[in-house]
Amino acid sequence: MSENWKNDTLAAQALGHVDRETGAVVPPVHLATTYVRDARSPDPASPLYARTDNPTFAPAEALLARLENGADALVFSSGMSAATAVVMALAPGAHIVAPGVMYWAFRNWLVDWCKKHGLELSLVDATDPNAIDVAVIPGKTKLIWLETPGNPLWTVSDIAACAVIARNAGAKLAVDSTVATPVHTRPLDLGADIVMHSASKYLNGHSDVIAGALACREQDDFWAAIKQIRAQLGTILGPQEASLLLRGMRTLPLRVKRQSENALNLAYRLEDHPAVSEVLYPGLESDPGYITACKQMKDGFGGMLSIRLKDGMEAAIRVTERTKLWKRATSLGGVESLIEHRYSIEGPDSPVPDDLLRLSVGIEDCWDLLADLEQAFPG
Ligand SMILES: *Cc1c(COP(=O)(O)O)cnc(C)c1O
Repeated sequence: MSENWKNDTLAAQALGHVDRETGAVVPPVHLATTYVRDARSPDPASPLYARTDNPTFAPAEALLARLENGADALVFSSGMSAATAVVMALAPGAHIVAPGVMYWAFRNWLVDWCKKHGLELSLVDATDPNAIDVAVIPGKTKLIWLETPGNPLWTVSDIAACAVIARNAGAKLAVDSTVATPVHTRPLDLGADIVMHSASKYLNGHSDVIAGALACREQDDFWAAIKQIRAQLGTILGPQEASLLLRGMRTLPLRVKRQSENALNLAYRLEDHPAVSEVLYPGLESDPGYITACKQMKDGFGGMLSIRLKDGMEAAIRVTERTKLWKRATSLGGVESLIEHRYSIEGPDSPVPDDLLRLSVGIEDCWDLLADLEQAFPG
């Protein structure tokens, strides 16, 4: 029935799910940790124990797999547990190529993990496919990791170009697509093997669930290894969270398109503002990622942008003290707009400029958002 539905329809309908027993239009929440089994010939497809499987997260996984055009999807207890499962699935001695600037907590974990577990890591400028190509060690590189648009400068990596590099090297290409969401980009269609989401952000969209997700292009041995890691570690999503996540995903296209529209409008307005020295947003023609973004993003460029203040760090921090509508908080992708001075969070080792403010644009009225920033700017 849902074969020809567009993504907006698939999401709104949660793939058209109707509960077989009750006719409920919302899937039930299963709290059970264990399931009655057949004494002699247990059905391998039926659930056994809730650390490995819970029918409550099956609808969210099925919906994400469809939205990403993947063969399968898995939800995790957090974005970090989804991302780390991909790295843990690699055999010892593997070499990884990843961006030097990306989601801070994952980069820190990756550097640390590789050191402790005998994996080799090259951090490169992932906006340049040539830099990735040069870093690849044939026969040894097993994973290329991208994040696009990438935290917190919203740099764009060319997924299709990197997919060719990965394939030639016999490596997997994994893409953190948290910010693009399947509304704007489908990395698997561009040749990526794995797409990763912090579902705490846009997929859920209401700042009330910590969750992660992966989807794959093919259910191969690598995917089986990832699945096994989740089952063994128990980095699964709780049933209540899985149910909330599915509810959030039903409005994903609606929210994300509005957020991207607001972000683009703000980017245009802020670009000319005397208090702002630079707007970092892949939807601006002046942005170095614009051409690639146009190639691999549709219906908008995402709801994340950063601005740099002409008057430096102190002026930037002062803006976060003065906004009333924009909430001073970390995280992103919720319906409410957030503002953050990243450098204060990441500390002196951070590659982030100290005059930078990261904006997560919500679904509010765009002019309210602009007016609140303008009254908070110095001048
Ligand atoms: C938040 C985030 C993560 C980590 O996800 P959690 O759900 O917080 O564990 C990874 N990548 C990106 C781009 C993120 O924004």
